[in-house]
Amino acid sequence: MFVRFALTADLTFNSDLSAEATNAVEKTVAESNNVLFKKGVPKGVDEREVGRITSWSVEANGIRLAIESGTYTRAHDALFRFRKQIATALGKFRLGLRGISIGEYRITMTGEIPDGIHIPNVPFIRSFDIRKDGLSLDLAVSAADLENRVPDRILKLIDEKIQASGYGGKGEHWELIFASAQRPRPFTKDPTEEMVKRNWIRHGAARGQWIHGPQSVQLFRAFEQIVVEQIIRPLGFAEMIFPKLTPWEVWMKSGHAKGVYPEIYYVCTPKTRDPAFWEDVGDYFKVTGEVPIEMIRDKIDGPIGGLCYAQCPSFWPFVQGETLGTASLPVKVFDRSGTSHRYESGGIHGIERVDEFHRIEIVWLGTAEQTVDMADRLHEAYHHVFEEILELEWRCARVTPWFMAQEGMVGTGKAPQAVEGGACGCGDRVGTTDYEAYLPYSENWLEFQNVSINGDKYPKGFNVKIQSGADCWSGCSGVGLERWTAAFLAQKGLDMDGWPDNVATLVGEPQEIFRFL
Ligand code: ATP
Ligand code: ZN
Ligand code: MG
Repeated sequence: MFVRFALTADLTFNSDLSAEATNAVEKTVAESNNVLFKKGVPKGVDEREVGRITSWSVEANGIRLAIESGTYTRAHDALFRFRKQIATALGKFRLGLRGISIGEYRITMTGEIPDGIHIPNVPFIRSFDIRKDGLSLDLAVSAADLENRVPDRILKLIDEKIQASGYGGKGEHWELIFASAQRPRPFTKDPTEEMVKRNWIRHGAARGQWIHGPQSVQLFRAFEQIVVEQIIRPLGFAEMIFPKLTPWEVWMKSGHAKGVYPEIYYVCTPKTRDPAFWEDVGDYFKVTGEVPIEMIRDKIDGPIGGLCYAQCPSFWPFVQGETLGTASLPVKVFDRSGTSHRYESGGIHGIERVDEFHRIEIVWLGTAEQTVDMADRLHEAYHHVFEEILELEWRCARVTPWFMAQEGMVGTGKAPQAVEGGACGCGDRVGTTDYEAYLPYSENWLEFQNVSINGDKYPKGFNVKIQSGADCWSGCSGVGLERWTAAFLAQKGLDMDGWPDNVATLVGEPQEIFRFL
């Protein structure tokens, strides 16, 4: 992709420019083009790629400039470098810079533009022209917008959209790392349907929500106990409680604000807690038996954020802005204090894809080496649990969401085993490993948990440093209890005699406390 930036700008001074001052402008323009704009540009870069003032004129108390560039010293960067230089040069003539107004700002991209690229609907884009072999954007921007790097962000965003469309509809690269042996498949029913038949679970009143009866909870708690005994305790993780209402502020820093919107359960607050303000709503319900949604919509503020989506972002404000001492690294914590919520729309299925689910989230941070090493230990521990304790038919795969590949966050996509923990080829290890279980009833694989090495994404986002001054990295692993249950029951059936003995003992006889007539 070939990119050009072009702008026109008016610099206004406190009084008219004299002939001498105009000479100084000419000199500064030449100096800028020949020296200043070339600073920091690597040798061998084509001259046309570098910012250049292509025309200038002086009228009364103003300088009018046209600047063009490729991707080095972009037009707006050139403008601000010039501003500094000209302020000094004209200061000698008692001329003070009063303001900069931007006339036109145009970005042109030449190269293949895939079908269906959506130009962002933001106020800065005045108009655009999009063709098969390129696109151009006319921006309406102020000098402050340029200082805020708005053109760079727009370009990056469009570039991301182009890359995403090239990544194929799937949005994810998938690479097998390990597959267990095939296990006997004695049970081929949908475990959710069987659980419902036995009254282990019943639909909740909200969409994608289940009420778990005692038998189902016995399974959840047994799995939790396995995770605690086999993983959390031996690896030294400490329990915390992460908040379950996530404000925008957190998602802005975790990066979820870039695109989580279609799956959020939004949270709003009342405009006031004055009972008189709300009296109408209660009255309406008392008279009609209906809750007046529209009336409520007028009386609430926000949304201020949403219900817990991914579990770990809410942890980070605990360490935000801090430098962690070497002795506390790697920090190892986990949370199992509440539900996660996702609007799964038509995708809802059984207990495995629901809008409200339960997950243990394991989080660790430290140096890159420590982070990768902990991921390796978790992989080992999980491997043991799925092979020796749950006796599952499972596999794990390295998945790379397109945006990670695109941000250059992952290297060659080498399988984790290819790198020894410690001697760090760590950059190659950033990414997610999904664990999947075979579901005989649907002949599909179900992702039931994952382990992610997130690189410096969270520490950067929340400004967390470590004592040694090395990069701080983090990882997280989400153990979905509904998904573990669905996977286990789908393979082993609901009768305990088909379960590994140790699991049956941990779960105990199903408690039948409801007798429905
Ligand atoms: P999927 O591709 O199945 O939608 P995901 O990639 O959205 O999963 P992650 O965001 O990686 O899932 O979430 C981590 C874990 O949270 C999953 O491995 C799973 O155990 C659990 N999880 C995610 N979404 C759901 C859901 N809708 N219902 C139950 N568990 C879920
Ligand atoms: Zn996480
Ligand atoms: Mg999902």
